[in-house]
Amino acid sequence: MVQGQLRGRGITDPRVLAAMGSVPRHEFVAPGDESFAYDDRAMPIGYGQTISQPYMVGLMCQLLEVRPEDRVLEVGGGSGYQAAVLGQLAAEVYSIEIVPELARRADLTIRRLGYGNVHVIEQDGTLGYPPSGPYQRIIIAAAAPAVPEPLVEQLVEGGRLVAPVGDLRVQTCIVATRNGDELQVEHSIGCVFVPLRGEHGWHGGSGE
Ligand code: SAH
Repeated sequence: MVQGQLRGRGITDPRVLAAMGSVPRHEFVAPGDESFAYDDRAMPIGYGQTISQPYMVGLMCQLLEVRPEDRVLEVGGGSGYQAAVLGQLAAEVYSIEIVPELARRADLTIRRLGYGNVHVIEQDGTLGYPPSGPYQRIIIAAAAPAVPEPLVEQLVEGGRLVAPVGDLRVQTCIVATRNGDELQVEHSIGCVFVPLRGEHGWHGGSGE
């Protein structure tokens, strides 16, 4: 996976490659799907949600430019896989998941594997997670109509945010830094994610 799907496609950050080489993705897929865990695709994890394609996890982690001292907020924890990868790159990771069953499952997996710096929290991530903020890095793993205001407020000045923003069918993944009360978008690439729900997400989004 690391050689064929990541390195071969422009994921070059050695820390990201090492992190993805060390986190056992088969522990995060749905039961029975372990033999497909390293395939080049997103996979269903129940409740209409997916574990993202390895390449997309690698790309977003690389774009986030996580430093070892960073506190990272992840909105849309899903299986917990990306949170575990981020945990290898950062000091602390707060992974917020809105579906209670997924949050519980991700928390169990993360604790079973002993990733002590990754914290799974069940709530609406569009509100951020103020108790552990502000964050040096914020990543949204679901498609947002716009970057939720509370997340901008919980990002440190100069902090970096990576998020798929757009409509329900197709989005651009923006890479931005906080400059005062504004986000300065550096660049963006096309992507497709499941919808972000919650107060600042798509109201009534079914998550398909
Ligand atoms: N990073 C995940 C994949 C995320 S899929 C992984 O590695 O497996 C997107 C996830 O965002 C889904 O699990 C969905 O339930 C969750 N989600 C959607 N809206 C949310 C919100 N407002 N707050 C927190 N999580 C949300």
